[in-house]
Amino acid sequence: MDNNKDAVLMDKIVSLAKRRGFIFQSSEIYGGINGFWDYGPYGVRMKRAIEQLWWREMVETRDNVEGLDSTIICHPQVWKASGHLDQFSDLMCDCRDCKARHRVDMMEDPKICSNCGGGNLTEPREFNLMMKTFVGPVFDDEHTAYLRAETCQPIFVDFHNVRVASRQKLPFGIAQIGKAFRNEVNPRNFIFRSREFTQMEMEFFCDEAEGMKWFEYWKEQRIRYYREKLGFGDDFMRVYEHEKLAHYARAAIDLEVRFPFGWGELEGIHHRGTWDMSRHQEFSGKEQHYIDHDGQRKIMPTVIETSVGLDRTFLALLGKAYAEEPVENEEIRTVLRFPAVIAPVQLGVLPLSKKLSGQAGELYHKLNRYFRCEFDETGSIGKRYRRQDEIGTPFCLTFDFDSLEDNAVTIRDRDSMRQDRVPVAELRDYLESRIDG
Ligand code: ATP
Repeated sequence: MDNNKDAVLMDKIVSLAKRRGFIFQSSEIYGGINGFWDYGPYGVRMKRAIEQLWWREMVETRDNVEGLDSTIICHPQVWKASGHLDQFSDLMCDCRDCKARHRVDMMEDPKICSNCGGGNLTEPREFNLMMKTFVGPVFDDEHTAYLRAETCQPIFVDFHNVRVASRQKLPFGIAQIGKAFRNEVNPRNFIFRSREFTQMEMEFFCDEAEGMKWFEYWKEQRIRYYREKLGFGDDFMRVYEHEKLAHYARAAIDLEVRFPFGWGELEGIHHRGTWDMSRHQEFSGKEQHYIDHDGQRKIMPTVIETSVGLDRTFLALLGKAYAEEPVENEEIRTVLRFPAVIAPVQLGVLPLSKKLSGQAGELYHKLNRYFRCEFDETGSIGKRYRRQDEIGTPFCLTFDFDSLEDNAVTIRDRDSMRQDRVPVAELRDYLESRIDG
């Protein structure tokens, strides 16, 4: 890997993201706060589009997955049961191979994992992973609560409420999109590792005997999703198989992609066995089994999880889309080749002259009902194309004087820069067939 080239690309992306209103450093006028980022006008459009794409894929098109929107703060016992609280404020290091976590002051040899004997340990770090807060007027231990470190725990806790309300039977899944907070010791690589981020998680509950079947199913589904919807091919995405697993896990893979700084984890797909539901049964004292009335069996649900970071998806898309290329009469154009389905602006509507703004504006209002559109009447057409290229707009519509006569417009394709004359009456179909993810 060419580190210098990667760093230059990352700098360019960070700077474009700020200049064009995708991502800003949080609280910048106060010097920023490490590990926190704000999404600007184009950023939030794209973020919502990614959420919608995922939600449609994982919830709306499936009869056996329900949605949930839980609170960020929940009962502190949830984090006791999940194991998050036990590795709290000690100096810890992780074994990258078997995932065992060690208190450095209790290790015989700080270079060797006492669990698997390997030497592949992370740097020791202070483990204040959970973000602490207080609920109520008194700031003491009794009122301590935590911001969720992952969106999946409330899914486990709400499993039976969702099941009863939705009348679902095993196997079925519950999905959630929302903020997660981790007091990362070393936030880095732009939005790749931050302290506040958004996760999109789906927990699929099934019978233990079918666990591996569903694990394979979800792995295939998620890879297909990235290929078909976001265009992540084999040169961009790879599967990393965990050989040594967390003690409760039966199987786990990461989907890794080529981020602007190199390969990194985008999504984890995990076969978590019955660990989560058993733990919540143990800590809550409430029965968490599922009763299979047909089979007359009590089942502790096995969980298959698909867990992806929205911000990492965003960064992967930015890195993959970024290109600089020579064009006629100009030195270089910067272009973001986003898939149309997630582009912040899908159609730029550009009147050739300000004299045409009225008619072009009407068309813009009509099309904006179906696509994410932007109206731009300032500057030369060439300049306006470049502006749209830079934010990744896949199509630009030019309304010219002929449009008044022939009721047609010119559609320019961002990537090929080809121009098609399209009758206004056919515009919606023309664009829909090209934009649909
Ligand atoms: P990593 O090993 O990179 O710290 P992880 O294995 O701890 O990640 P999970 O707990 O499996 O991550 O979380 C699921 C997903 O949430 C990750 O694949 C990633 O996309 C996202 N994620 C986790 N931590 C962060 C973070 N600090 N900032 C942004 N996204 C994150």
